[in-house]
Amino acid sequence: MFLGHYAVGLAAKKVVPKVSLGTLFLAAQLVDLLWPLFLLLGLEHVRIDPGNTAVTPFDFYDYPITHSLIGAILWSVGLGLAYTFLKKDRRAAAVAGLVVFSHWILDLITHRPDLSLGMGGTTYFGLGLWNSIPATLVAECGLFAAGIIVYTRTTAAQDRIGSIGFWSMIGILSLIYVGNIAGPPPSSASIIAVAGNASWLFILWAYWVDKHRTAKSSAGQS
Ligand SMILES: [Zn+2]
Repeated sequence: MFLGHYAVGLAAKKVVPKVSLGTLFLAAQLVDLLWPLFLLLGLEHVRIDPGNTAVTPFDFYDYPITHSLIGAILWSVGLGLAYTFLKKDRRAAAVAGLVVFSHWILDLITHRPDLSLGMGGTTYFGLGLWNSIPATLVAECGLFAAGIIVYTRTTAAQDRIGSIGFWSMIGILSLIYVGNIAGPPPSSASIIAVAGNASWLFILWAYWVDKHRTAKSSAGQS
């Protein structure tokens, strides 16, 4: 899943309006942001496998540190604790931790059975939404649209960075998604490990545009 994770970050803004969209994107995508680093370190592995599912040409055969259930729980708790330490806001920290965990639930729905429970697991889980391109598109685009509606109803742009900057980010994310689905698979797994790090750009982008938007007074209290 790609857009669906960003959708959770966008929607979470309604629950914790004081938390930057950058932090919420970081939480929603934390394990996918760490994954390329673990690939580069040789601690996790992926191979190119066209037809692995209808949607993805990747075989995620070894990624328990970022994508096992235990891993997801530890990263959720870790981010929650880090947020509490830095910002002294336990409620926002709990929400950020839950947003981290939402990644695993959404991946569980989308991936074929390649998610383990623990680090050394041999039983894998995944409900396989990716076996259907139409169902994947409906789910991802529906979630993304809902997230955008919630975020734009929760916040108002103060200036052009808050409006044009925000909508440009949404546009680029959508284009990348189309490219991922319609484009050819990368030629090697090492390209994924390097290119995957570009996702950090959207974290910075979200911090930037969120600073140029204010929470509307009707937004939920944090
Ligand atoms: Zn993932």
